[in-house]
Amino acid sequence: MISPVMPTYARAPLEFERGEGAWLMTTGGETYLDFGAGIAVNALGHAHPKLIAALETQARRVWHLSNLYEIPQQKALAARLVETTFADTVFFTNSGAEAMECAIKTARKHFSAKGEDRFEIITFEGSFHGRTIATISAAGAEKLTKGFGPLLPGFRHLPFGDHDALHAAIGPQTAAILIEPIQGEGGIRSVPTQCLRGLRELCDKHGILLILDEIQCGMGRTGTLFKHEQAGIAPDIMAVAKGIGGGFPLGACLATEHAASGMVAGTHGSTYGGNPLACAVGLAVMEEVANEPFLAEVRRKSGLIAQRLGELADEHADIVEEIRGEGLMLGLKIREGTACGDVVQAGRDAHVLTVPAGDNVVRILPPLNIPDADIAEGVRRLGAALAAVKAKAGA
Ligand SMILES: *Cc1c(COP(=O)(O)O)cnc(C)c1O
Repeated sequence: MISPVMPTYARAPLEFERGEGAWLMTTGGETYLDFGAGIAVNALGHAHPKLIAALETQARRVWHLSNLYEIPQQKALAARLVETTFADTVFFTNSGAEAMECAIKTARKHFSAKGEDRFEIITFEGSFHGRTIATISAAGAEKLTKGFGPLLPGFRHLPFGDHDALHAAIGPQTAAILIEPIQGEGGIRSVPTQCLRGLRELCDKHGILLILDEIQCGMGRTGTLFKHEQAGIAPDIMAVAKGIGGGFPLGACLATEHAASGMVAGTHGSTYGGNPLACAVGLAVMEEVANEPFLAEVRRKSGLIAQRLGELADEHADIVEEIRGEGLMLGLKIREGTACGDVVQAGRDAHVLTVPAGDNVVRILPPLNIPDADIAEGVRRLGAALAAVKAKAGA
């Protein structure tokens, strides 16, 4: 008989009832070090007092209003995002996929409002943009799309890093290029900063829009508030989610006034998007994360963990091929012959939580405010996990 919860996930048999900082406690009272942060969501760890306070205060005032009325917390969060980023305007959602949906609709509407027949969006192999029909169509990988057709037309999938294919693919119907500055689900694959600049130049040359999916790599994860800042460029449209809610469901589609020119009253909506609870928490997250001292700390912690992981990779060079990623968005590329899932499971056995990704990579996505001692402890446990995988393979 089918389980009451639709069985779309292969879940680990772990039940957590409490969290604090980078630690999770099971119902049985065991503790685990969280190097996954709910897939890059719990940016400030678990049970952060300021996030709890923001949520509790708002919960006593009003939970939901709908976008039929002004929502002060939503206005304040939009203003904060506009003041700190390239964007002139923001649409709030409850998830990453919805933020991507808004990004896709904004790009299409931009050209249709101008009377131009440009709708095609160029995307890349290995990408992940969510699980709605539009976003699986955008990513294109069979493991996401199989059996869900007919898919949404209007996406052109190109190999990752193939510049010639990219130049050749731009035609009169091209509306936008959509890319994750660092692929998350695809296996922590970074787009070099000079390539991000090249994409910006290409979009400008052809009068098309650059859409960045910073749902996983944004919100301080790479040591700047958004990854594209390191390339000195700005997108026209950007999808944000995960870290911005610190664990409360919240997403956002940010755009320039130019890109959002078609998004006038009545063109898009969401019942829950931008609700007072989510935006109150989002504001508290921005307050903590969007400042130079916090981001400098992320960069310092990144150096610390990268150094320790490097030592680990040297010690276990027979299993670990390389360390990938930036900031606190890191990956252990596991050599052929060992499955990344086995390393993740051995990590669980050693009470450190990580996240598997494509390309046989183990993702390491700790809370951005993880204490140094917890970094050291987590890497030590990962070492124990790798040793256990090796012992098992040898046995
Ligand atoms: C998680 C993720 C999404 C989808 O977000 P959901 O909240 O699961 O809909 C989209 N793009 C990227 C890069 C992601 O990491």
